[in-house]
Amino acid sequence: MAKKVLKFGGTSVGSIERIINAAKIIKREQEGGNSIIVVVSAMAGKTNELIDQSKAISKNFTRRELDVLLTSGEQVSSALLCGALNEIGVKAKSWMNWQIPIITEGENTNSRIININKEKINKFILDGGVAVIPGFQGISINGDITSIGRGGSDATAVAVAKIFNTDSCEIYTDVDGVYSSDPNKIPVAKKIDKISYEEMLELSSLGAKVMQSSAVQTAMIHDIPLEVKSTFTNRKGTKIFGQENIDYNKKVITGVAYSKDEAKIIF
Ligand code: ADP
Ligand code: ASP
Ligand code: MG
Repeated sequence: MAKKVLKFGGTSVGSIERIINAAKIIKREQEGGNSIIVVVSAMAGKTNELIDQSKAISKNFTRRELDVLLTSGEQVSSALLCGALNEIGVKAKSWMNWQIPIITEGENTNSRIININKEKINKFILDGGVAVIPGFQGISINGDITSIGRGGSDATAVAVAKIFNTDSCEIYTDVDGVYSSDPNKIPVAKKIDKISYEEMLELSSLGAKVMQSSAVQTAMIHDIPLEVKSTFTNRKGTKIFGQENIDYNKKVITGVAYSKDEAKIIF
């Protein structure tokens, strides 16, 4: 029996139908004999909508209150996903950052996870339940709700994989893997079957948001293999792991990334 982290990004839970679809994937994985911890993002667009609302209230919305506001998106999706799992007969339970707790350090809106208490989650999955953990959320040592940066659910998934010592960390998203360039912008982009942490880090630091760069960095430091795969098709995804697993004789260029609204000035 394998212990797995399954992370569902915003687009994978962007509507009620999609949440029900994600629940079916989780059920299938559990019925395959695996022990499952799910990490879930806010429904697509929700975090941006909340940021806009804070701006409409005040230009000086504090970072502390912003974190209270923004992390609410993950609370909604966690509960809806658990509801969908219960509805199809899967024992599932969600916990918020402060209930687990997921301890972070650093400033509000840009914290990082330093520890996750394993007790409640381990007990629940050992009893045959699916544990649902909110991505992106944390709590500081002094009790403030925190968030870990945009796209941070990827980093939560990697932290969970590390701390719970899981056998795999699967990142479910709206594309079926990592491509040589953004497949939604460059239709001829090629899917990459395997990519090293270093190359993935380079792609994500240069704007490939399919994996958040700090999540890739943590995975690289702790040698946690990742797999990026589609929530909507059964196609094989992309494996991200150490360089020793890649056959470099076959490759010249892995990928090309770009970021919008950025200029480079060279003197
Ligand atoms: P999620 O909501 O699952 O976290 P994101 O929107 O953060 O998903 O990341 C997935 C998106 O990343 C894709 O829809 C795609 O447009 C974009 N993307 C950018 N660069 C790449 C790339 N090289 N390979 C795959 N997807 C990419
Ligand atoms: N909901 C957060 C965001 O939109 C975290 C995530 O989706 O990974 O940035
Ligand atoms: Mg993302």
